[in-house]
Amino acid sequence: MRTAEFVEEVKKGNISAEENTCKFLEEAEKIDKEYAYFNIIAKDSAINQAKEIDKLIKQKKAKGLLLGLPVSVKDCIVVKGVESTAGSKILKGYIPTFNATSVQKCIDEGAIIVGKTSQDEFGFGGFSINVGIGFRIPKNPFDKERVCGGSSGGSGGIAQKTRFNHVSLGESTGGSIVAPASFCGIAGLCPTYGLVSRYGLIDYANSLDKIGPMGKTAEDCALMLNVISGNDEKDSTSLNAKKENYLDYLKKDIKNIKVAVIKDSFGKGTEEAVSKGILNKFAKLKISYDEISLPINYKYSIADYYLLATTEASTNLAKYCGMRYGAAEKLEGNFNEYFSKVRSLNFGKEAKRRIILGTFARMAGFREAYYIKAEKVRTKIIEEYKKAFKKYDVLISPTMPILPPKIDEVKKLTPLQNYMMDIMTVGPNIAGIPHMSVNIRMEKGLPVGMMMTADHLQEGKLIQLGKEFEK
Ligand code: GLN
Repeated sequence: MRTAEFVEEVKKGNISAEENTCKFLEEAEKIDKEYAYFNIIAKDSAINQAKEIDKLIKQKKAKGLLLGLPVSVKDCIVVKGVESTAGSKILKGYIPTFNATSVQKCIDEGAIIVGKTSQDEFGFGGFSINVGIGFRIPKNPFDKERVCGGSSGGSGGIAQKTRFNHVSLGESTGGSIVAPASFCGIAGLCPTYGLVSRYGLIDYANSLDKIGPMGKTAEDCALMLNVISGNDEKDSTSLNAKKENYLDYLKKDIKNIKVAVIKDSFGKGTEEAVSKGILNKFAKLKISYDEISLPINYKYSIADYYLLATTEASTNLAKYCGMRYGAAEKLEGNFNEYFSKVRSLNFGKEAKRRIILGTFARMAGFREAYYIKAEKVRTKIIEEYKKAFKKYDVLISPTMPILPPKIDEVKKLTPLQNYMMDIMTVGPNIAGIPHMSVNIRMEKGLPVGMMMTADHLQEGKLIQLGKEFEK
């Protein structure tokens, strides 16, 4: 059943929100035991929300685009009354007193918030294996020995594995919506920077972070984007863009969309199963395309991204000092010793690495050479995209250069090898432009994802083309 039909059935009273929620939760608990998609399942509050919806339906007062729909939320997006840790031990026990704007908007449309999904600590990873101390690594829905992709791994996993209508809210700084969407065989849409409010998001890197939908289909993403997009006075970087109905794009013909394939992403370093799979799909659907090269992006975006992202992350994490937020330890020694103790006991290895890297990049004496230069390179990358969008509507690349790898293989990669896997996904994030991954086929029993990138606020074109490629 399509999600819109499910919502309609709930509205008519043919499906009880409570019954459906209970069944979803039962299944989610079972899946979670094996696959570790949730940091917390919010059973009681979900059932209460569902009862409330059923009551309103009986009184004929219920309305909303997501009526009765189970929605999961990446752990770094806060939910009132539900422990929200961003996958870090340092935030264990933090119970927010408010909802993130995106979460509130879902609730206002009748959604049931079912839990917080597992992720790399604070979003620091592309495979969801850099989970915080004491957290579990989510496992690929097609092969438990493999990764889900990251950092929104739990969101990708549950969206694929559940047999219920379900959409998850993910978050991306450098690819964390599209990467797990690709590895889990679902659709994930990372919107234009500022289109969806960041209020209530536990920051990774403020100039890059975005919240976006992850669901089984492009249609589910369009529906969710209708709900969560829009200006928010609580977020100073929120855009004042014209409100659109993204579902309208599903009906549009794609023949006016000009497509270019990014050559640089199909060469060395990309597995043949992935590149051939995508190009064959173009042939099969008889969609024509040009080829384009983005040399600045493909040469510099990884270095650029990891300087910008770690710089911002290192300042964002400074607030976890054992005094204001999250974990505290026994007060001993001077403040510096105390501060170090709290952080060394509660941050995972990758978080520490990024604090060191980011602090270095912005230190007096080095900032001109690293951070400031990275900001300039960012402008060059944006200009390169803008030039491409003068001629083309949508640019195509694989989402990830490889099929989902084994967890043990990824653990053996060096940090640099690890970062290099983000080669396709960091560019659009640096530029703040929308991009979407859709599943185009299965290869050796594993999903292949294709990424589409468009100019600022052109999400509609991604949904339009994404729907076609899902066929
Ligand atoms: N893999 C990238 C990183 O580790 C992207 C993560 C994200 O988008 N949150 O920074």
